[in-house]
Amino acid sequence: MDTQNTKRLSILGSTGSIGTQALDVMEKIGCTVTALTAHSNIKTLEEQARRYCPRLVVMTDEKAAAELRIRLADTPVKVSAGLDGLCEAASLGNTDLVLNAVVGMVGLRPTLAAIEAGRDIALANKETLVAGGALVMEAAAKRGVKILPVDSEHSAIFQCLQGAPVGNRALKRLILTASGGPFFGKKKAELEQVGLQDALQHPNWNMGAKITIDSATMMNKGLELIEARWLFDVPPENIDIVIHRESVVHSLVEYDDNSVIAQLGVPDMRIPIQYAITWPERVPSPVRTLDLTEWGKLTFYPPDYDTFVCINACRAAIFRGGLYPTAVNAANEQAVDLFRKGKIGFLDIGRLVCSVMDRSLPKSKGESVTLEDILAVDAEIRRIILEAAQ
Ligand code: NDP
Ligand code: MG
Repeated sequence: MDTQNTKRLSILGSTGSIGTQALDVMEKIGCTVTALTAHSNIKTLEEQARRYCPRLVVMTDEKAAAELRIRLADTPVKVSAGLDGLCEAASLGNTDLVLNAVVGMVGLRPTLAAIEAGRDIALANKETLVAGGALVMEAAAKRGVKILPVDSEHSAIFQCLQGAPVGNRALKRLILTASGGPFFGKKKAELEQVGLQDALQHPNWNMGAKITIDSATMMNKGLELIEARWLFDVPPENIDIVIHRESVVHSLVEYDDNSVIAQLGVPDMRIPIQYAITWPERVPSPVRTLDLTEWGKLTFYPPDYDTFVCINACRAAIFRGGLYPTAVNAANEQAVDLFRKGKIGFLDIGRLVCSVMDRSLPKSKGESVTLEDILAVDAEIRRIILEAAQ
């Protein structure tokens, strides 16, 4: 069977967990690379540039870009820098698909740049849709750009929706599964003293540090709830969350006739990454097959909303609309950064994220939100969280 896929990819965040797995997938299925980007990991980006020969590489850290330019002087590869460079990689010509796998809402402007240039997007960077969901989805619809989910839950839902009636009219409910992270079953009192290394021990997935901490606080599932609302145009009251410790059932959809369809597979991000690249085709994968007898049983529980309060803040934010989702995301990015630096405790992340829901923000539900509004609220909330943590 011919497994060659001739798509040309620009990969934003190619040195990260998703980025390196995407390169593994694309090597196996035969795609080519037009651009690669990283923040400051010069060594890995240089190796990738020599191996995959893209036309453009970008380092958002300006000093790192200057150094990489010297290191790649013997090659024809162009080296650009900063956020402008990231947007250049997102809108590069002769590219079929932009994989956005940078971490944080810094991914928003490159997503908008890709849309403006008419490039389809494989989206791992969920913060883009949390901070700017309405803006991004409207721009994509206007330009006819496809946004293909990479996040495993959203890929699962996307796969369950293939063949659904047009407009999802028969769709009743989305059910997002959550592993529960390393602190499943623990109560607040037991989490007062947990440290960074405890939060970085995810039971099922090996991911970048920020999303691993988001999984420990369960902010990740709150972000995914907002992401699902925008990707599938489903009201938040029709999106449920269930804890599923084994991460084998990646999410489910329920139709009006109460038939529920799930997508299953071993927990390996290369499956959803590959599907976003090859959609609507399927090709053989390097990932091992699922043998259900290995697991024996699959378990499901309701989330503990008293302990993992970030989910409540995200649900409240998407209900309230306007700039609240931008605000909870900004609070979380800043709080996670402070936690990683040892400046605040684990439970402070949830406290700080919830605290922004008490603030009044410009623009209410239904009012159109601009990129400038989003960037202003993001900066303001980060400043407030920094001050609150002093
Ligand atoms: P990593 O931290 O492993 O990688 C992040 C990538 O983004 C790296 O290439 C990094 O470059 C780059 N980067 C970091 N900071 C910046 C910045 N300020 N500007 C531009 N680029 C930057 O993250 P993951 O791969 O784990 O996650 C990427 C995205 O995918 C996140 O939004 C995450 O929520 C989502 N996701 C991840 C999953 C996973 O399994 N990892 C699963 C589902 C979703 P450098 O190496 O130089 O720092
Ligand atoms: Mg996920």
